[in-house]
Amino acid sequence: MYKNIKVIALDADDTLWVNEPYFREVEHQFAKLLSPYETENKINQELYKKEMDNLELYGYGVKGFVLSMVEAAIEISNNKVNSKEIQQILDFGKEMLSKPIELLDGAEEVLKKLSPKYKLILATKGDLLDQERKLKKSGLLKYFDHIEVLSDKKEDNYKRLIEFLEVAPSEFLMIGNSLKSDILPLVALNSNAIHVPYHTTWIHEEVTQNDNVDSYKTIQSLSDVLVFL
Ligand SMILES: [Mg+2]
Repeated sequence: MYKNIKVIALDADDTLWVNEPYFREVEHQFAKLLSPYETENKINQELYKKEMDNLELYGYGVKGFVLSMVEAAIEISNNKVNSKEIQQILDFGKEMLSKPIELLDGAEEVLKKLSPKYKLILATKGDLLDQERKLKKSGLLKYFDHIEVLSDKKEDNYKRLIEFLEVAPSEFLMIGNSLKSDILPLVALNSNAIHVPYHTTWIHEEVTQNDNVDSYKTIQSLSDVLVFL
C-alpha cells in the first residue's frame, strides 16, 4: 500500500511528544485562579471563545494562549483582575515554554528505523521559536531532513509543502494525531495519511462528522507504522 512513498511527514505535538495535557493542566490552574469570579465551566468556555476569536491574529501556540488567558481574565473578572493575577497567568505561560520534553512511546525508535529509508519531514504548527526549542530538547532533530512549522494545517498548506518537496501527493505520507489537521487535508489531496489518536484532543481539533474512514489508516501506537513502512 505504501510502496510509492518517498517522503514521510510527522506531526510533533501529541504524535512524537506530550503537549495537549499541559494545556489542560494550565486551563485548570487558570480556572482556580479566577474561581472568586466564576465557575470553572464558564471560565473554560470564555477562554476557549477568546482563543477562537484570537486565532487568526495570534496563530497557534503558547504565546497566543497566554494573551487569550489575560483577555479572558479581564472580562471574566469584570475588570477586577489585579496585577498579581496577571503575573500568575504570565508565569503559567513561561512554565509551559520551559517544560522538559516527554517523548511518546516508540517515537525515537520509529524515526531511527524510517530515516534511512525515507526523507523525513517534521510538519507542525505553533510558535516557531517554541517548536524549535522543543525539537532541540527532544534529541530528535538529527532524524529529520526538513522542518516545516506551518501557520495552519489546511489543504492549501499541505499542497504548498508537497510542491516544495517536489514529490507527487501519492509519494507523500503524513502521520499524526489530529484528524482535522494531520489526516483529512491529505485525504482531500489524494495523498496518504496514518492516524495515531492521542487520548487528549483540543476541542478545536475535534471532527464531528467523518465520512473518510476508508481513505486513511488508523493505528493504536506510533510503533505500529513499522509494520507497513
Ligand atoms: Mg498533534
